[in-house]
Amino acid sequence: METAGIALLYLQLHRVTKEQSHLLRSLDYVKRILRNLNGRRVTFLCGDAGPLAVGAVVYHKLKNNAESKDCVTNGASNVDQETLTELVKPSIDYVRHKKFRSGNYPSSLSNETDRLVHWCHGAAGVIHMLMQAYKVFKEEKYLRDAMECSDVIWQRGLLRKGYGICHGTAGNGYSFLSLYHLTQDKKYLYRACKFAEWCLEYGAHGCRIPDRPYSLFEGMAGAIHFLSDVLVPEKSRFPAFELGPQRKENKEENNS
Ligand SMILES: [Zn+2]
Repeated sequence: METAGIALLYLQLHRVTKEQSHLLRSLDYVKRILRNLNGRRVTFLCGDAGPLAVGAVVYHKLKNNAESKDCVTNGASNVDQETLTELVKPSIDYVRHKKFRSGNYPSSLSNETDRLVHWCHGAAGVIHMLMQAYKVFKEEKYLRDAMECSDVIWQRGLLRKGYGICHGTAGNGYSFLSLYHLTQDKKYLYRACKFAEWCLEYGAHGCRIPDRPYSLFEGMAGAIHFLSDVLVPEKSRFPAFELGPQRKENKEENNS
């Protein structure tokens, strides 16, 4: 994932700056990864689906539609309505019911300590599930719970673990950007900006140096991704995870 993460960061920088050189740099990385897919794992972050998705977008932006389609056919999957209501919704409600009194969520099923507030563990990850549930099922309870997560992240989400997006402050900052999209409430944009300020003082808080200091999920690439998204909060999205409002974006691209 390390190389795919860097490819995704260059794609993001292209999106924000419109610089063609960033797109070409992303393509270099994508080509390198696509040569080495192993076809064994289907998960987005650790398998082939992530690199294929990045490849599809990069090729699409370069107007190379054949290559782009190839990436999509190799990586796409679908969830039908029945799976949504019979399996996904009850699973979401099960996670909701595991909420701690503080508003945070357990990091795993067997762990009852209310300690971690990261994208990968706790409220900062669960909030994305809740926001998506609200969009799909349109039930207020999901939005209410998401707002409660946001309060927990605001109070406990500045992390000494680092600045990354997996278990760092930038990842927690993304929860505010996403909730800002959903609600248009400027309070959440304010929170995102405050977390961005913290990230701008990179290295000044005595944080631990991550195992992969430059990686998208643990390291500096993720923090840069977040900061570049704060510049255009209306278009921000958590990398490799959150989908944008597709139709709107296509329209914008056609106009430019
Ligand atoms: Zn993590």
